[in-house]
This record gives sequence, structure tokens and C-alpha cells, in this order.
Amino acid sequence: MGQCQMRNERISIQCLTNSTGDRFDYESISNQKQQFTVQNQDSYIIRNEETLQLINELPNENSEVLLFVTAKNTIVAGTSQQQGNSTALTNTKFPFKLKKNWLTVRSVNKYPLNVNDIFRLGKMTFRISSLSFNPLTEPELLNQSKADSNDQCRICLGNTQSSNPLLNPCKCSGSLKYIHLDCMKRWLKEQTQSSKQYQSEKSETYLWNSLKCEICQESYKVIFQSDGVTYHMLELLKPRYPYVMLEFYTKKKDNQVVQINLGDRFTSKADGVMVISLGEKMSLGRARENWIRLGEVSVSRFHATLQIERIQEQDSLILFDNNSKFGTLVKITEDMPIYQDLEVQVGNSLFKLQTSNITC
Ligand SMILES: [Zn+2]
Ligand SMILES: [Zn+2]
Repeated sequence: MGQCQMRNERISIQCLTNSTGDRFDYESISNQKQQFTVQNQDSYIIRNEETLQLINELPNENSEVLLFVTAKNTIVAGTSQQQGNSTALTNTKFPFKLKKNWLTVRSVNKYPLNVNDIFRLGKMTFRISSLSFNPLTEPELLNQSKADSNDQCRICLGNTQSSNPLLNPCKCSGSLKYIHLDCMKRWLKEQTQSSKQYQSEKSETYLWNSLKCEICQESYKVIFQSDGVTYHMLELLKPRYPYVMLEFYTKKKDNQVVQINLGDRFTSKADGVMVISLGEKMSLGRARENWIRLGEVSVSRFHATLQIERIQEQDSLILFDNNSKFGTLVKITEDMPIYQDLEVQVGNSLFKLQTSNITC
């Protein structure tokens, strides 16, 4: 009768929890199965010792909340690291900690990626810091450097130019203070080329801990200031070919850096960025034949695929999962309405949400 005024779906939630490990393994046979149903009221799934429990009252501050489905049938983004953009959470102060929620790409078939999206393959987490389908034709416009006409670049001994300002990215002073933007870019390029293992024909990888001034030994910052102008190191690394730039971070657990293994490329204890040249179809996985090879054992042989598709006259970068062991996951950073069947991974639990019984 008339228009549907309210989303009134019943959502059945099937929950599978692995008995071991800290992430959900699709190939594991020892799962604990639990079933819950929620409908039009705030519902929380919390961990209660070994089992999960559905509650409808506000959890207390000691609760470990895995999933929070609102009365409007929306998944609230996890908040363990940051507030995210959850409207529900900014309106009300919740005392509990909500674990990070990850959408599984296999449950939505494919996922269009945008800048700032965070995705995970096994233990490896990437953030898309930059994406360009069209090569840059002009260098980015930069503010005028404060260096005066007497100042010189310590590499080429040239003066400042409007399109090629002199920067001071480290602690060096005097006649060594400045380096041209272009000379800096060339130096960064050499940092990957001089060490072949960091580079393949499809990608270049930069590690922050190797990007330091050879004279004062100061590590270059991702964002640095020179004469009051702020520069972003990633801006300097942008290539002229179509690319996607993926930042990766090593996990810091109990003040210990857990190293990540990037396969035949290198083992890294440092944060860094991969600049990947775009093709129509780019596979990511542990096998040698991949466009991007990731040697980490938690990454499947052919784990995921990135593909360029035209959607509404626009190029889009689409992420697919190839039935990987640990799944291809995208971090949920905004509240997400449950309008279709979805899978959400939280730690070693997998929640399968199914909507049914639409009654208006
Ligand atoms: Zn120079
Ligand atoms: Zn220096």
C-alpha cells in the first residue's frame, strides 16, 4: 500500500569463526557456525569468551563489538583506529570499541576503487594514494621557492627557475642547502634504478627508510616543508605513464616492526609506496606470472585482479577476488546500507548478511 516509508528487511546473519588464526580462512574446515537475525533495531554482535552474542542494548566499554547493525539496517564502519565517517557515531558517543570491518570483494563480485580506499590481500594492506589514467602532460604548478638568485642547486649548480624551484628537503645548509625539484625527482628515480631488485618493468617501489639525504643522513619525509611551502614526496614520484600508486605499511605490534615480504622484490621492514604501471588487466599474487608479484605467504598464487573498465564514460579501476584463501577485502570506512547480500570480515570471523521479507 503506497510508498515504502521504511526499510523493513529482516537480515539473517550467518557467522563463521575460525578456531585459529587472526584472519578468516576460507579453506579452513574447523569453523564455529552461529546464526542471528536482526530487524529494525540497533543490534550488536559482541564476543563473549569463545562465542559470539547478539545484544540490542548499548554494549559497555569493555565489550569487543565485532559488528554493529543500526535500526536502519546500516553497517557502522569500524572505529578502532579512527572515527571514520560514521554519522551514527558522531551523533552519539559510544563507549565501546568497534573492530575494523572489511567488505569481502567476492560477495559484491567486484569493487570499484577510488583514491584513499584501503584494501587487503592476506597480511598485506594497501592504500591507494594516487591514480591516473592519463599521463601528466604538464608538471604540477608549484609555489615560488624563496631561494634567491644567488642560491645554487647542490647537484647541477644551477639557479632557481619558476618551473623548477630550489627545495630544502633535509638538514643541509650553506652551499649544500638547496636542490632543484627536477634534480630531486631524478635522484628519487635513481634510488630505484640503482637497485634493480626494487623494480620490474611493471612497477617501481620506493621505501621511505632508503630515501635519505646522503650528506646529512636525514630521512626525507612523505610531506616536507621547504621555505614555508609544503611538498608531498608522492607528488614527486608521480610518473608520466598511467599508474596507480599504492602505499603499504608494515605492522607495528608491541613496538616491534613485523617485516613484510614482497617476494622476489624485497623484504621490507619499512613503509613505502609502489608505483604500478596500468594495463587493462593486472593480476596480483604470489606466483611469478603475476603483473605484481607479492611473496607474502598469506597471499594466494593468483589472489586478485585489477582491471580497467569504462563506467559512465569514465575509466574506473575495478578490484576482483580470485577465490583467494584469505579473501580480498576492502576496508569499510563509511556506514554502509545493507541492500543486498554481503559478507563482512572482522578478525577471524566472517559475517554473511542476507536480506529478506521486504514488507512495506
Ligand atoms: Zn639542479
Ligand atoms: Zn641533507
